[in-house]
Amino acid sequence: MPGRNYLTALLQGRCPRCRTGKMFAFPATNIAKFNVMHTECPVCELRLQPEPGFYQGAMYVSYAFTIAFLVVVSVVLYYFAGDPSEWVYIGVFITLMILLVPLNYRYSRILFLYLFGGIKYNPPLSK
Ligand SMILES: [Zn+2]
Repeated sequence: MPGRNYLTALLQGRCPRCRTGKMFAFPATNIAKFNVMHTECPVCELRLQPEPGFYQGAMYVSYAFTIAFLVVVSVVLYYFAGDPSEWVYIGVFITLMILLVPLNYRYSRILFLYLFGGIKYNPPLSK
């Protein structure tokens, strides 16, 4: 059975080396523990924090996600809600960003590790 492809593994939050082990210990819907990462991959034992402070760079990814989301929300409100008051824009944006904190946090870390972790896919480690 072939392993997951790059995009599927990234979207499912799998380890970039084996594409099988999960990076996070709990699902994103667990509000109290959505941010808990495994220290190493449960399948191939890859250290998921390559160096201390590695994920500080994920802040920039998170910022990019936030700005892209702001643009999308603004365009949708402008064209589909008839350009409401600026307080509607602010309220909708803040509400949605709070609701999406778990996804923003997780995908910024996942994407940062995939792009800048320097980790190559190793198919024999897949299960
Ligand atoms: Zn792994």
